[in-house]
Amino acid sequence: MSQDILLEDAMFYMTINGDTIKGEQQMGVVNPAYDRIFAQAPNCTKQELDLAISAAKTSFSQWSQKPISERRVLIKTFASKIIEQVEPLAILLTMEQGKILSEAREEILGGAAWLEKTANIELPQLVSEDSETRHATTIYEPIGVVAGIVPWNYPVMLAMFKVGPALLAGNTMILKPSPTTPLTTLKIGEIANEVFPKGVLNVVSGDDRLGPWLTEHEGIDKISFTGSTPTGKKIMEGAAPTLKKLTLELGGNDASIVMPGVPIEALAEGLFWAAFTNAGQVCIATKRLYVHSDIYEPLKNAISKYAKTVRIGDGLQEDTQIGPLQNQAQYDRVKALIAKSKESGLKFIVGGEVPKNEGFHINVCILDNPPKTAPIVCEEQFGPILPMIKFTEIEEVIQLVNDSDFGLGAMIWSMDFAEAQYIASQLDVGTVWINEGQHISPTASFGGHKQSGIGSEGALQGLLQYTKAKTIFTGTALGPRN
Ligand code: NAD
Repeated sequence: MSQDILLEDAMFYMTINGDTIKGEQQMGVVNPAYDRIFAQAPNCTKQELDLAISAAKTSFSQWSQKPISERRVLIKTFASKIIEQVEPLAILLTMEQGKILSEAREEILGGAAWLEKTANIELPQLVSEDSETRHATTIYEPIGVVAGIVPWNYPVMLAMFKVGPALLAGNTMILKPSPTTPLTTLKIGEIANEVFPKGVLNVVSGDDRLGPWLTEHEGIDKISFTGSTPTGKKIMEGAAPTLKKLTLELGGNDASIVMPGVPIEALAEGLFWAAFTNAGQVCIATKRLYVHSDIYEPLKNAISKYAKTVRIGDGLQEDTQIGPLQNQAQYDRVKALIAKSKESGLKFIVGGEVPKNEGFHINVCILDNPPKTAPIVCEEQFGPILPMIKFTEIEEVIQLVNDSDFGLGAMIWSMDFAEAQYIASQLDVGTVWINEGQHISPTASFGGHKQSGIGSEGALQGLLQYTKAKTIFTGTALGPRN
């Protein structure tokens, strides 16, 4: 607990209009490994938010006019300054989020890499006609002030997914982390303040009032939101009166499909981590594992054998492999889901008991072939739970996977490439991984189908979400073009 002591006097500030603001009000931040408040963060007031939005509006006129090459350089400088601070930032991230330290480091470095790669993307100018009578070009202009609203599972990475393209395109921004994981983002806001002109990137933290204030605010032109599907719907509603542009990256209930013929022992560990990294709190985690009946029993044995070797605990301890659930509400939700599954007689291959020690720890749970209507199968668990489900026919498993309101991602594990390609073509999801899991890239589009989202992040498609298209036709009614 030495880091707790270190952090007792640490101060966290919002970044508003180039100033570091302690804020009129404060809120406690809990270390989920111990269920103990270990730091205070600003609890943004409505007046402080108004100040941030008005600063972002004022700075937009200059920032949007800067050549994109200059914005590119500043984003890359920002990325390199984050990398310089990776160690203290990673410790802080583990303390507030719960994930193990090596994954916290990866998240911060991944966020910085995302900024760097995004900064290289060019905004196109599309000439759709160049004839004797007409020239037509479509250009992409920044939208204005963007609100970035981020969840608690990958607070830094998911924030950088938004900051990079929003600023590159020439927008200014208000970034809002989750109330339960504000600290690392606030520190990153202070780093940004050394790099960007004042008002370009404002970072505010606050309780549950802050998101709706942002969503409904007349000064916000676009919302880029990552979080749950129910909150995405509320944001759509809040944004409707002012018809704000929206990108929504929402929940998922991703399936993995495992075909016969795969090397079972070698695959078991990879499949385990596809489901249980970050205690299962990953939007693209495998949340349903469909295994062909020919290999169901041996794969079940191999995964459960591996699961029993995995250590849970405080993410700062070197031997911990899975940290706690991130917050009390999620901990209670997952415990209730486990209790409900036990009550209805579902069979646990591994886990099912919740440790009684302090903190939001839950042992890994693997369930044996629950029915497709069980909540543990059809809801997004977002915790260390994995239902294994038996299938025999390809068309049957395609139908089971697609029978969901979600459509975020899916994995296919097969030695038959053509078969895997066919299954991929039939799945109604935004990303399919064949023989690998959870790879995302700043040069590839990422987004959800169905109720998993609207719009996308990554690559040119993601960058264009932060722009408005303008087409300019030049005609010859008054004489030839010169
Ligand atoms: P959440 O929806 O509860 O909260 C996300 C953010 O929205 C937080 O900053 C929160 O303060 C804010 N918020 C809450 N209510 C709001 C409102 N009414 N108006 C405006 N803002 C509001 O999500 P969470 O529990 O923090 O995160 C877990 C969810 O995020 C899971 O469903 C997961 O699948 C999803 N997620 C999706 C992706 C993706 O890329 N599709 C990535 C990560 C997480």
